[in-house]
Amino acid sequence: MQVKADCAWGENQRMKTNVHRIEPGSKVRIEDLDPDATPLCDDKSEGKERSARIAERLGELQELLYAEHRHNILIVLQGMDTSGKDGTVRHVMSGVSPAGVRVVSFKRPTPSELDHDFLWRVHAKTPGNGEIAVFNRSHYEDVLVVRVHGLVDEKVWRKRYEQINAFEKTLTAGGTIILKFFLNISKDEQRKRLQARIDDPTKHWKFEHGDIEERKLWDDYMKAYEDMLEKTSTKHAPWYAIPSDAKWYRNLVIGAVVVETLESLGMEYPKVDLSGEVVE
Ligand code: AMP
Ligand code: MG
Repeated sequence: MQVKADCAWGENQRMKTNVHRIEPGSKVRIEDLDPDATPLCDDKSEGKERSARIAERLGELQELLYAEHRHNILIVLQGMDTSGKDGTVRHVMSGVSPAGVRVVSFKRPTPSELDHDFLWRVHAKTPGNGEIAVFNRSHYEDVLVVRVHGLVDEKVWRKRYEQINAFEKTLTAGGTIILKFFLNISKDEQRKRLQARIDDPTKHWKFEHGDIEERKLWDDYMKAYEDMLEKTSTKHAPWYAIPSDAKWYRNLVIGAVVVETLESLGMEYPKVDLSGEVVE
């Protein structure tokens, strides 16, 4: 079968995923980021096929990451309710051994967590060498939901952009590779997905009345996301704004970014002394 170059991903053929990267220091206008765009692949079945191969390759690369034990990866997922954070974990990590990846879901902070600085609970969950950690929500909630609901004073959350950049710089200096994905869905797509949670009995458990209330604050959230992307996309820890109305495209691009990043590390299996013999 003829595979279109557009959707290609292979040893020597990279997707041009930089189109979705927020260039550090650039001005971000959220309305310019199209949630429905698929510039790197316009064929769903080809895209899915590529995704499956990427997922398999990620499994191999994770083993190498663990064997080499020099790097670790932190993947941050942020997005509105129903944007697909759980689905991304399920698909992108489908080829990785459960032993090789740690998924951390950040919920409303506990009283004990609130007694500490906002990065305390986050730092405790960062990956160690050889590990992939995925943050399903993250320290960015502290400049999103916290800002939108005024849970702390503005002068407190405003300082957090800089505090986050410094924190992430500390992590990367210690060998962590940080990749951050904003799952960008449209307000209309969210309506459909929330409705599906109401209509489909197998999705009822995902439905929360609070989600309807949060939806009313959509514009405030978009402003908060815009500032977050603009102020915290850095060279050491870039944001990617992933068009996420099409789930298959979201999975394809996130998988490709993670695989391409791991490939670029030039990892090698460690040399092992194999002298000696297996005895009964
Ligand atoms: P879910 O991801 O649907 O399980 O919901 C988790 C909830 O926890 C969301 O409503 C988040 O906004 C909330 N949450 C996560 N982190 C924080 C935080 N630092 N402060 C306040 N709420 C948070
Ligand atoms: Mg929820």
